Amino acid sequence: MRDRFKVIDMHVHIAGRGDVWPEDLWWSERFEEGIGFKALAILKGWSSKQVGDELMRTVLSDQATMARRIDLAVVLAFDNVYDPDGTYRGPQRAKREEVFTTLYVSNQYVVDLCESYPKKLLPGISVHPFRPDALEELDKYKDRAALCKWMPSAQLIDFESSVGQPKLERFYAKLAEIKLPLLLHTGIETSIPTVDKSFERFNSARFVERALDLGATVIVAHCGCSYFDLLQDNMVDDTIRLFQKMEAEGKDWGLYADISALFSPFRRRKILDRIFAEIPAERLVYGSDFPNPAKGRREPFLRPFLRYRKANLLNRSARIARRWLKHYFPDSDARADRIMTGFHRLLESLGRGGQVPGS
Ligand SMILES: [Zn+2]
Repeated sequence: MRDRFKVIDMHVHIAGRGDVWPEDLWWSERFEEGIGFKALAILKGWSSKQVGDELMRTVLSDQATMARRIDLAVVLAFDNVYDPDGTYRGPQRAKREEVFTTLYVSNQYVVDLCESYPKKLLPGISVHPFRPDALEELDKYKDRAALCKWMPSAQLIDFESSVGQPKLERFYAKLAEIKLPLLLHTGIETSIPTVDKSFERFNSARFVERALDLGATVIVAHCGCSYFDLLQDNMVDDTIRLFQKMEAEGKDWGLYADISALFSPFRRRKILDRIFAEIPAERLVYGSDFPNPAKGRREPFLRPFLRYRKANLLNRSARIARRWLKHYFPDSDARADRIMTGFHRLLESLGRGGQVPGS
């Protein structure tokens, strides 16, 4: 009998330069010149003229509708930068030299996009904790959103700001009240640059204890892995330490981690070995980090890049993840399945099962 839980890829990116949706989509020159975006354009064979809102939207919606190995995908919004005192640093109203945002995808944009593909896409909103209307924005989307995404490095979320502290506390309490999971990017980020590298240290599970203590559910994205193992430090130890603390102190935290980008072509095997040995499988949820490519366990290094242009990346990532999981859990198909359906299980445990169509 087929598992009643659906396979949900809960970590899927969308972006746009704002040529069609100028209010909702924007990226900076820094983003367009960054290695992540450049690599994507080269692998896809896109000229800079072609790259616009429509193209990005079509690539995702076409692949999602054709992806047979996943039931649903969560498409992530990306909020602007705000200072701890609430000052807006996005492209719409700030002066050019005071714009700190590198990527913006509005919540309404992902909600509208997902409503066009209700059987395949779920919206993941993004709300900066320091924006003056943060709690209202959470309330506005609490029933439609499947999660709320933060990336401290690019969004300049300072967990140690004294001005920001009460705002963070109120935000966590709100997340707990509306039972909306927080997806926190962890590890050094490559594709979405930051205007201030000193914020990279906040991309760590180390900063989520307060949120967990206040009852919020937190998903540590990438388990703390950075995309390039050989060139960058990672935050995997911070993630493992937090899971160990939960276990040792018997905390009833809503702590999870996603396996998105774990199977990057640049991943060291021993990092994966540690993650699957140390983090409980029932706390892991599947995500791909689309459009970043994944590499199969026995694939040659270049294969993911050679396959990139033609492949359905959502499908390919799900297939590759399943094989890796079979490798790490050889005696138990159920465990691998559990991780693939992990996000649906989590939504159901939060009383959000009704968001998943046909379940
Ligand atoms: Zn991501």
